[in-house]
Amino acid sequence: MVRVMVCGAYGRMGQEVIKALSEQKDMMIVGAIDVRGIGESVFGITVRDNLEEVIKETRPSAIVDFTKREAALEDIRTGVKNNVTMIVGTTGFTQEDLDNLKAFVDANNGRVLIAPNFAIGAVLMIKCAELAAPFMDNVEIIELHHDGKLDSPSGTSIATAKAISEKKKFEPSPHSSEARGKMVSGINIHSVRLPGFVAHQEVIFGTLGQTLTIRHDSTSRESFMPGVIYALRNMDRIKGLVYGLDKLLFPEGLVM
Ligand code: NAD
Repeated sequence: MVRVMVCGAYGRMGQEVIKALSEQKDMMIVGAIDVRGIGESVFGITVRDNLEEVIKETRPSAIVDFTKREAALEDIRTGVKNNVTMIVGTTGFTQEDLDNLKAFVDANNGRVLIAPNFAIGAVLMIKCAELAAPFMDNVEIIELHHDGKLDSPSGTSIATAKAISEKKKFEPSPHSSEARGKMVSGINIHSVRLPGFVAHQEVIFGTLGQTLTIRHDSTSRESFMPGVIYALRNMDRIKGLVYGLDKLLFPEGLVM
């Protein structure tokens, strides 16, 4: 039985995680943490606010964190110090955050998965984009999310740009001056924030006389749950700081 705590339990993703976990026969929710909704019940689990106290009381084997950047940076350190595997979906980390976390996790023999997108279809979208990159001349990314999302560009679009640029270095358009989105790894990312969206992304490649669009849509937050459950069931394969669900899904890299 995997004993799981949820951080950000009162939030949109946290509530979805608690619902999904409560449907798994091999998982038990032992704690729910948030700074809002304290004392309230989320699918039968009472929300509390002191992470370290609840860890010591309930001895979880894993913590699932969907909070916000600043909170997650703290939660990860607390989890690692207490020898708990961290499954982190929170986004918005800078490269410096990740470098500092890696040093901390390595020094403490921690086990942390940070996945900017737990939707398995989104992982496949990135893999398809990596496959296409060497054959195309240029690429841009459009990511579309609900208007409550704090960070932009999205963690998924940044991860996509980095993954593509490792397959091929793209030159941005020579006319890239204004209103061309944010450049990440030489690739322009355009961020749309509107009510009605959940999480969507298009990777558009262009070459002579043709374009190739690879698109993924999360139409509900349930889309992220199979990835979270997969990570929990495979957490014994997490060593140190692992970035991206693809590292668990494709341990040998992309096989072509
Ligand atoms: P949300 O605002 O609905 O929920 C975040 C929750 O975290 C809130 O309830 C908030 O009170 C709580 N929180 C803030 N500070 C805290 C702290 N110090 N301790 C405990 N709880 C704290 O946001 P959301 O839509 O649920 O998204 C949460 C995060 O997950 C965001 O970073 C978002 O980008 C990310 N996200 C990731 C994926 C993925 O697949 N990796 C998918 C969707 C969203």
